[in-house]
Amino acid sequence: MKDNVLNEKEKTLFGKELNPSHIEPVKLTMDSRIKFRCHPGVRCFTACCGNIKIILTPYDILMLTRRLQVPAHEFLQAYTEPTYLEKTDMPGVMLKMRAEDNKCPFVTPEGCTVYSDRPTACRYYPVGMADFREGGSKDADGNELTADEEKFFFLVKEEHCKGHEEEKVWTVREWREDQGVDVRDEMNKKWLRLVMRRKSFGHQAHLSEQAKRMFFMASTDLGYFRRFVFESSFLKTYEIDAELVEKIKTDDIALMFFSFDYLANTLFGAQTEIMKIREDKIREKIEEIKARQDEAVISALKEYEELKNDRGNGG
Ligand code: SF4
Ligand code: SF4
Repeated sequence: MKDNVLNEKEKTLFGKELNPSHIEPVKLTMDSRIKFRCHPGVRCFTACCGNIKIILTPYDILMLTRRLQVPAHEFLQAYTEPTYLEKTDMPGVMLKMRAEDNKCPFVTPEGCTVYSDRPTACRYYPVGMADFREGGSKDADGNELTADEEKFFFLVKEEHCKGHEEEKVWTVREWREDQGVDVRDEMNKKWLRLVMRRKSFGHQAHLSEQAKRMFFMASTDLGYFRRFVFESSFLKTYEIDAELVEKIKTDDIALMFFSFDYLANTLFGAQTEIMKIREDKIREKIEEIKARQDEAVISALKEYEELKNDRGNGG
């Protein structure tokens, strides 16, 4: 693979559906320079806030619900619609465009009404990131990629976006800092890896409907996930550090990270230090399996005896 040229597979940007013909076929690094500026004075101001698919990450939902001061279930009902994430069978949500003009529910002629809490996908534009740490860390020729090579950036240049005609020059690093993308990346990282893991294993690995529902619930409604943790038999099944249990009672970010670990563990069997199934539960399970096996053996023996008797009786 040529070092700085994107191949077709790499032209993806999490959260947005992109037309690959709008993507500059050049790989950018943190130090690459881009010429771009978006401000209320551009002719196209808010043109990019409509007719678009914006996927929401758990952190996006948390920030928007705080901003709007509504519980997650109300937010989901009013502002989102269901979708599948990154062409997988993992359920998620995206912003629901307004019926009357197919625009984002938060856009006004003056701009974005939730700007400081806008979703991750809105912050990326027009600098996309491709990250291959989960899901095939190899290049097109099958060579292993190093951590740095697995992550690179690309520029999206759409006809309607006049920001590219502005004179302001930034490095990708400066642009990302300005947009608050780095913080979002940190918040989304583990969750995005779950999705990419599913994408790379595809349907070879079976995921039950119940597991997918759990993923959706934990990814979209932290309030619901908290009730699940504290009001079900969860804490009787798992052994979790008492301090962490106290923390996730009230700390939403800690709860969100905890949910990512829980999902990685239950959906993909990932090892985690923070939660272990309690010994007594494991013993209970083993006893249950043994009892079931015993029952099966007893019933097989019974059938065998019956068959033998039948035969003996000329049956
Ligand atoms: S959330 Fe804000 S920035 Fe994002 S599409 Fe809506 S109006 Fe535009
Ligand atoms: S189209 Fe480009 S320049 Fe215009 S508002 Fe959107 S990001 Fe800014």
